Amino acid sequence: MKTQRIGQFTIDRVVETEGAFSGVDFVLPNADMARVQEQADWLMPRFVNAEHQLMMSFHSFVLRTPQHNFLIDTCVGNHKERPLRASWHHQQFAYMEALAQVGLRPDQIDFVCCTHLHADHVGWNTELRNGAWVPTFPKARYVFSQTEYSHWEAEHRQALAQGRPAPNHGSFADSVLPVVDAGQALMVEGGHDFEPGVRLEPAHGHTPGSCVLHARSQGDHAVFTGDILHTPVQLLDLSWSSRFCHDPKAASAVRHQLVHEIADTATLLMAAHFPSPVAGRIVSHAQGLRWHSGTH
Ligand SMILES: [Zn+2]
Repeated sequence: MKTQRIGQFTIDRVVETEGAFSGVDFVLPNADMARVQEQADWLMPRFVNAEHQLMMSFHSFVLRTPQHNFLIDTCVGNHKERPLRASWHHQQFAYMEALAQVGLRPDQIDFVCCTHLHADHVGWNTELRNGAWVPTFPKARYVFSQTEYSHWEAEHRQALAQGRPAPNHGSFADSVLPVVDAGQALMVEGGHDFEPGVRLEPAHGHTPGSCVLHARSQGDHAVFTGDILHTPVQLLDLSWSSRFCHDPKAASAVRHQLVHEIADTATLLMAAHFPSPVAGRIVSHAQGLRWHSGTH
């Protein structure tokens, strides 16, 4: 993705990995493959490959304003113990190199913003140093929704008490708690303004405390949507929530609201898993909504 300009702000992408993910029918249990096939002209092979797998990316966004550097969502991370998912287990991604390529050192990140606390959105919050998980970004405040944090903290405690596997592949313990222990967490409830034009807003459904981040400058607007949409395939039917959604109905309602708010406007939608070139807009066609990437 080339650098996107939002008035005085810029947005870059830091990629951890990209490629074919699970089948459409696995990720979106309600998806109608006949409808996907009908729209193959724009969906395939870019978003759905010949084997009907979703093409997905795991990346962070860097939002730079004249005042702050924000890192939005932090992927899977390195050296994490994720035995139930081989592609996340004991990884050695070149993520820090990708961060350096957009011109940033870890100590230049002011805010780390996790749209939600699933394992693929918190990984680089911490790194393994001398056998301990410590915050990767030494000067950053890490922004978590209080609702989201409380939910996963309760799940974590219950799992420990009952001897069940930890929630979210153990990421609450190795990628969230160490940040809180280091005193770097900033818990927010409801909406939160970081500076003029940069605002976090609740968008619950995918998880109990999912949020979206808005960036507005000089009349331009981008919205970082986390997992409100996993793939442009969901534009065919906004009720197709993912199997990872905590409350599929609420997730669908939030998706409807957001998509109809920004469709056919200049707002850039920056989703956590859309494949390259990632940045794009939602546009109406005779056959329904579509995804247009790149600048127009
Ligand atoms: Zn995700």
